[in-house]
Amino acid sequence: MQAATAQVKFEHRPNANPMPQAEREKAFENLGFGTLFSDHMAVVRWSADKGWHSAEITARAPFPVDPASAVLHYAQEIFEGMKAYRTADDKVVLFRPEQNARRFGASAERMAMPVLPEDIFMQAVEELVRIDSAWIPKGEGSLYLRPFMFAAETFLGVRPAREYVFCVIASPVGPYFKGGAKAVTLWVTETYTRAAQGGTGAAKCGGNYAASLIAQAEAVGHGCDQVVFLDAAEHRWVEELGGMNVFFVMNDGSLVTPPLTGTILPGITRDSLITLARDNGITVNERPYSFDEWKADAASGKLREAFACGTAAVVAGIGTVRHAGGEFKIGNGETGFLTEKLRNDLVGIQRGKASDKHAWVHPLAGV
Ligand SMILES: *Cc1c(COP(=O)(O)O)cnc(C)c1O
Repeated sequence: MQAATAQVKFEHRPNANPMPQAEREKAFENLGFGTLFSDHMAVVRWSADKGWHSAEITARAPFPVDPASAVLHYAQEIFEGMKAYRTADDKVVLFRPEQNARRFGASAERMAMPVLPEDIFMQAVEELVRIDSAWIPKGEGSLYLRPFMFAAETFLGVRPAREYVFCVIASPVGPYFKGGAKAVTLWVTETYTRAAQGGTGAAKCGGNYAASLIAQAEAVGHGCDQVVFLDAAEHRWVEELGGMNVFFVMNDGSLVTPPLTGTILPGITRDSLITLARDNGITVNERPYSFDEWKADAASGKLREAFACGTAAVVAGIGTVRHAGGEFKIGNGETGFLTEKLRNDLVGIQRGKASDKHAWVHPLAGV
């Protein structure tokens, strides 16, 4: 592993044809998720002989990819998802970005990729946000940042590649779920699983998503917004959604969330909400929760609320749960009171409106 403190110098090659301000502001009137991109990208390359090199901030543009490029065949690819916010007093901030840098390193290790020093990850993200700060929407929106890395060696042999490209792109976004904060409907798949013990469930890799898309399509086919996975060994324990962690609010006021045993992605939103809940004197039990328990608790009223969480959607109330054997509602089928409170507490900190006692907010100088 490499030192976490290495620094590189980013060459700046500003985009010669940035989007005119009027056009950008027009595009901001109707923001979707991940459809519009900023003018620049950060790129750092790695090779076995040179290490990290050729760091640059440059115009966003396609990569030339050789047809034998390793990522196209064996899918050595990892990514992160984070956001830059413009606060009410016009500061630009990131939320716990060092956690994304650390998790990116953990994902790299699992995928036999070189570990990007956390300082270089931070530098790339900060320099991109700085040059494209005009792309951070005001108000409810944010600038979604997508750091990622892929195997770029031209080689068909099966072993870890000897060349990689690390890149960060940025996309101004509005709300993740169409229809805003309405409670979502989940599909519990009993056909497909997402991750097994010893697999890649805790790594943020494209391959996990590739494997989950058919289950997500199954969910959509049943009129649901998102899929929820059960464990691969017993098909019994609730794990998480395709891209979000899950919480249950019990009628004694406590929270339950599945434990991080290697098959679940360790969400930074998950971690933040556990901390905020405990700050509020709420008991949080990280323990296995079965699908049978879920059905029974929803029916008896022992389960009061449930929600999903992740950077993109922040916190989404779960209203209805559908499965091969039927469906059930949670509470009155709408976003619950504690769900709403935790969401507001977290968004308040991210937006600089509430006190940040854990120093999660990372202000960006020079913007
Ligand atoms: C990214 C991701 C999450 C949420 O993580 P955050 O750090 O909260 O954004 C949850 N599950 C999966 C599978 C993910 O890829």
